[in-house]
Amino acid sequence: MFEVFDNKNLLISYLDNIRSNHSIGFVPTMGALHSGHLSLINQSQKDNKVTVISIFVNPTQFNNSTDLALYPRMLDSDINKIKNSRSENIIIYAPEPEDIYEHNIKSKKYNFDGLEHQMEGAFRTGHFDGVGTIVEKLFRIVRPHNAYFGEKDFQQLQIIKKLVEKYHIPVNIVGCPIFREENGLAMSSRNERLSPETRTQSGIIFEILTELKNNFETMTISQLKTLAKKLLSKNSVFELEYLEIADEERLKPAIRKMKHKNYRAFVAVFADSVRLIDNIKLN
Ligand code: AMP
Repeated sequence: MFEVFDNKNLLISYLDNIRSNHSIGFVPTMGALHSGHLSLINQSQKDNKVTVISIFVNPTQFNNSTDLALYPRMLDSDINKIKNSRSENIIIYAPEPEDIYEHNIKSKKYNFDGLEHQMEGAFRTGHFDGVGTIVEKLFRIVRPHNAYFGEKDFQQLQIIKKLVEKYHIPVNIVGCPIFREENGLAMSSRNERLSPETRTQSGIIFEILTELKNNFETMTISQLKTLAKKLLSKNSVFELEYLEIADEERLKPAIRKMKHKNYRAFVAVFADSVRLIDNIKLN
């Protein structure tokens, strides 16, 4: 099967006929698909009989109208990409905003126990209300058994886990590793907007994160952050928004390392006015 829907009611009826016999995996995306997205689809196809992929640039999660307007949209080529590489038992849901929001393009307000106030939440007002709103709506339409999210957006992954726990949504959330370009830059649909030179230079973001990982045992949190900022400031192409080291569970910026906690470094920078985020597991 290879089906494309733009209407949620038709999709719901179609899925109702297969849900009892087949496990359904779900991969939500905003399109402009790259190998990172395809790796999530791959994982879903391994784990499930049927994979539903949504392609929808969700307006309520953008705090910046220029970013929303410039976000790449290439539905036909996305559909072809999936058809040519992974067409087995695939259902694509690519709606217009009205099909999802019914003329009320607004976010619900969520409490994710403080996860929403850190990092991305602090710099992108309302972002996680928008993410929560669209993911909850999509979960209620698709009702998947398993749903796949990239660690590229690690804070989002933790927030989705909190969403399903707090709202008792019966779906298993699967986190998938970050896919990178050859120079280490985390794959992102926004990379298309970088000049070729900046795209090459942006490999330094992963180099710096790797440096933090290599020095994690011997340096303090404050020394690590100073090191990262110093290395980044050597290249004037990048404007730092935040560099944080936080524990994976609560995502609160760490002051000192505690035993038995897992830490990650998180970074957001602007390059060519494009916002890039990345993170790395430190221990
Ligand atoms: P997006 O289309 O950017 O909203 O991403 C859709 C899903 O793909 C999210 O769960 C992302 O975390 C995931 N994703 C995006 N980029 C990558 C990447 N480089 N590696 C792994 N997963 C990714």
